[in-house]
Amino acid sequence: MDIARVLRSEGFKVTPQRIAIYDALRSAHNHPTAEMIYHTLRPAHPSMSLATVYKTMEIFEKIGLVKVLEVGDERAHYDWDTDTHSHVRCIRCNKVEDLMGVDSKAISEIAEQGSDYHITGQQITFEGICPECAKKESH
Ligand SMILES: [Zn+2]
Ligand SMILES: [Zn+2]
Repeated sequence: MDIARVLRSEGFKVTPQRIAIYDALRSAHNHPTAEMIYHTLRPAHPSMSLATVYKTMEIFEKIGLVKVLEVGDERAHYDWDTDTHSHVRCIRCNKVEDLMGVDSKAISEIAEQGSDYHITGQQITFEGICPECAKKESH
């Protein structure tokens, strides 16, 4: 994904901070919040503000580069993978991971069959305790 080209073609300025924010999201596997990205980037980008991260994410969402996830902790988590897929959130450490093996399309079909709605999307987040937290608790 050539993020600079996408930004330019949508009429947005390409700035080093915007590139860094996208790269940080892309390399994170925990579906970070704006705060998490801010703390990751702060050491290398001391002039970056949390507001910049929020604003940049708004732009990314508008042009379809990120999906905003509501996962039940009242904070927006960001996902660079905009295809429909399910998530699982650890109720202890609050990380959010992709959930493999859940047939998202089948769930949408069931929802459509069980209602008069034409289903256009879904946000499914399971909750649980991740292996790392489970290990810590068993000690
Ligand atoms: Zn955990
Ligand atoms: Zn995801």
